[in-house]
Amino acid sequence: MSNERIWLSSPTMHGDELKYMKEAFDTNWMSTVGKNINEVEKQITEKIGCKYAVSLSCGTAALHLAVKLAGIKRGDKVFCSDMTFDATVNPVVYERGEPVFIDTEYETWNMDPVALEKAFEIYPDVKTVVVAHLYGTPGKIDEIKAICEKHGAVIIEDAAESLGATYKGVQTGTFGTYNCISFNGNKIITGSSGGMLLTDSLDAANKVRKWSTQSRENAPWYQHEELGYNYRMSNVIAGVVRGQIPYLDEHIAQKKAIYERYKEAFKDLPVKMNPYDEKNSEPNFWLSCLIIDEDAMCKQVRGEQDYCYNTERGKSCPQEILDKLAEINAEGRPIWKPMHMQPIYRMNGFVTRKGNGRAMTNAYIEGEVLDVGIDIFNRGVCLPSDNKMAPEQQDRIIEVIRKCFK
Ligand SMILES: *Cc1c(COP(=O)(O)O)cnc(C)c1O
Repeated sequence: MSNERIWLSSPTMHGDELKYMKEAFDTNWMSTVGKNINEVEKQITEKIGCKYAVSLSCGTAALHLAVKLAGIKRGDKVFCSDMTFDATVNPVVYERGEPVFIDTEYETWNMDPVALEKAFEIYPDVKTVVVAHLYGTPGKIDEIKAICEKHGAVIIEDAAESLGATYKGVQTGTFGTYNCISFNGNKIITGSSGGMLLTDSLDAANKVRKWSTQSRENAPWYQHEELGYNYRMSNVIAGVVRGQIPYLDEHIAQKKAIYERYKEAFKDLPVKMNPYDEKNSEPNFWLSCLIIDEDAMCKQVRGEQDYCYNTERGKSCPQEILDKLAEINAEGRPIWKPMHMQPIYRMNGFVTRKGNGRAMTNAYIEGEVLDVGIDIFNRGVCLPSDNKMAPEQQDRIIEVIRKCFK
């Protein structure tokens, strides 16, 4: 059998991407304006059901401008998802705000509304909440929205991983006041890079258009009254995105089939797949993950940059699974290490259902889980989820994982 690398999630091109890139070239719109940009903005607003979409250089830029729209200033605390990619929270710090992390719940692996409610008791002045949908699985949106409304807080939705996922039939990327998506190379559709800010506010969309193009005033010369950024998407990149949008649903169907296949194959193992609210949500299944039952975990220790574990009969751990996958040239990954565990954010606030809102290092007391993020990080692993993975390749991965528990 071929030993071709099986990726976690790699770009899947279809052909039209090149056509639209060439169109930009042939018409000489090799710039940050042009037809591809106009088209992708129109198509995304139609697909997602928002009024305005502004194309930017990346999802992180969209999050940065969302944080500016929310008016975050030096010292402002902002509640943020904890178990996510650091691009969700770094933009808060770009504006000298202070992320306070909210622990994770077990049902969708996203922000825990119970911990969020508690956070508002501890920090009643907070006015902004940044919520991500991990691995394409919508979080507990109704609960989070209700809590934010009650406390007069604005939601910034980080839908970078969840493009195309729905909650109660509504697309993610529409639940916040300011919403962000990404076309990074490993996302469900890609421009090789790129992102967008989505909003229903014309005023917000206009501000983002202005800020992202160096904040030029309407004058014959370069006139500046506000700080500007060079954050606009290239019309060439937009050509790639334009070629990809028609394939979003196909990619989701492929990812879902991969998830279902893993789920079926692991039925008799002491593991579960990353969960979602089957009644109310339809994820985009961007990454398939598993979590090992507590009593099937072998001993595993992780330092800041290294790890070790004991191989044990009938048991395994994420690092063993990752090592075994690497042996067959397949790319898995640990669960995104929670932000409150990151050295750069170790002094930031962290609110759990049971903690006191201060930074904490003890995840368990007398066997009881205090910190859901650490627990999922310890026991969870992201599996190869590339939508071009053949069933035979996935079978090999399944076989390797089954062996880990022998
Ligand atoms: C990828 C990602 C981003 C950042 O998007 P870029 O386009 O890479 O800047 C932000 N948040 C999450 C959760 C992501 O996965």
